Amino acid sequence: MEWMQFLTSWDDGYLLDLRVADLLDRHEMQGTFYICPAAQHAAEMLTKDQIKGLSSRHTIGAHSMTHPKLTQIPPKETSREIHESKQWVEEITGKPCTIFCYPYGAVNDAVQQCVQEAGFTDARTTNDLEFSAADPLLQPITLQIAPFPVRMRFHPLWKVLDPLGPLRARYARLRKLKTPHSAMTSWLSLAKYLYAYGLKNDLPFFHLYGHSREVEKYRMWGELEEFLRYVRANKS
Ligand SMILES: [Zn+2]
Repeated sequence: MEWMQFLTSWDDGYLLDLRVADLLDRHEMQGTFYICPAAQHAAEMLTKDQIKGLSSRHTIGAHSMTHPKLTQIPPKETSREIHESKQWVEEITGKPCTIFCYPYGAVNDAVQQCVQEAGFTDARTTNDLEFSAADPLLQPITLQIAPFPVRMRFHPLWKVLDPLGPLRARYARLRKLKTPHSAMTSWLSLAKYLYAYGLKNDLPFFHLYGHSREVEKYRMWGELEEFLRYVRANKS
């Protein structure tokens, strides 16, 4: 019996999210797009009309107004960021918005409580290599689409320039998931291995997350498409 859910979410609201949405549509998959009104990395962002259009086929979630680390700003601002982003999404889509994503995955008890008080029932972090969520307001992900095993960018959370950082930071956990070394040689091989692992062990979900801007930057569209094809072919 295979009940594992395939979840996928995309952060920030880049214009390139439309390309992700097209891919998902072609594979008859639904995704969640967490959108922040403030442009990130000076990239081109979705317009309100495009967000509205996207909301007819996919879920739109809130992601704060200006993308701060919510744990590092005054509580009043945290509250404003969270409440206003809910309203902002609802005004665009015309639908209730009950899901939130913490910018940079930064969350503590106070931030979580604020998210709950604002009326969100679900919130996503960036903790990875997980297949289940103990708390709906602290939902982890399974895998981010990003260069692996070798770093190709300076990740804000890993201060050390360590070329094998993406692998090193996850090695112990990957071994715990019985990942063979052969599956650690590329992002695609790891993604397929972890998906199969979740299916085999009848785990609740596999959650793929990413930034369309990075898929473009690191030329990972082919890998993303091949993985979605794999997921579709290996659904129960
Ligand atoms: Zn973000």
